[in-house]
Amino acid sequence: MEIRYLGTAAAEGFPAAFCNCEYCRAARADLAREWRTRSQMLVDRKLMIDFPPDSYVHAAGFGFDLSAVRTLLVTHSHTDHFYAQEFVNRGYKFAEGMSAPILDLYGNSEVLAVYREGTRREMRESVAQNIRLHELQPYTCFTADGYEVAALPASHTPKEQALLYAVRGDKTLFYFNDTGLPDEGVYRFLAERGFVADVVSFDCTFADAPGEHSARHMGFAENEIVREKMARFRIIRQDAKYYVTHFSHNSAPLRDRIEREAARRGFIAAYDGMTFTV
Ligand SMILES: [Zn+2]
Ligand SMILES: [Zn+2]
Ligand SMILES: [Zn+2]
Repeated sequence: MEIRYLGTAAAEGFPAAFCNCEYCRAARADLAREWRTRSQMLVDRKLMIDFPPDSYVHAAGFGFDLSAVRTLLVTHSHTDHFYAQEFVNRGYKFAEGMSAPILDLYGNSEVLAVYREGTRREMRESVAQNIRLHELQPYTCFTADGYEVAALPASHTPKEQALLYAVRGDKTLFYFNDTGLPDEGVYRFLAERGFVADVVSFDCTFADAPGEHSARHMGFAENEIVREKMARFRIIRQDAKYYVTHFSHNSAPLRDRIEREAARRGFIAAYDGMTFTV
């Protein structure tokens, strides 16, 4: 399984769009190394998780074939995870020779509502018919393009049921953001269904920021709790790797610092463009 982090920032990006804090200024001084765009992951160059407004920049900047993506799993409808308007360009005169004309788009009811709102003005019928929408409920499993996928409830917002994903191909990935500490049922469901992770990706919005963390996201302290729980439920391999992502400017995610702090705790801090095979 090839995994590529395309974006590793929280909603505001890093440097944040309108911010002049010391960390954002430091990031601006070395963009080649420090720039973090909104969160997105590409698996095996054909399965994608989330579709932020930066998706176009990811495809063009990293030079991969966005039309080869057959499966899109969306965690929730927040704008840093789902920018529906871009899909009006997926066909007609805007896209020729697409590698995979049909896209299966999975998300909760709010994601599908945002898709309909966002594409209402400009979507052409010929483009729309190549995008198949699938509404997901938490605690369900389905097969997509040969992957076995579990959708699980995130603890993120009372306004919609955000989803976590477990993706089983030749290896197994747990994608855990955006979320605070997940419910006990998440671990139980994964154990019952026999999902055992080779790689885990954690929401680490707060990193090591001091003080009380809101229950909508995690930092290193919460990531450690989840890792321990996963071990107790035996849903991670002994040699599993733990990546952390979705960093906020408030937690000073400058690479040297955040990579060092993550490593001290047995995590790997993701950065934009980070690619590896498990
Ligand atoms: Zn987010
Ligand atoms: Zn800032
Ligand atoms: Zn969110």
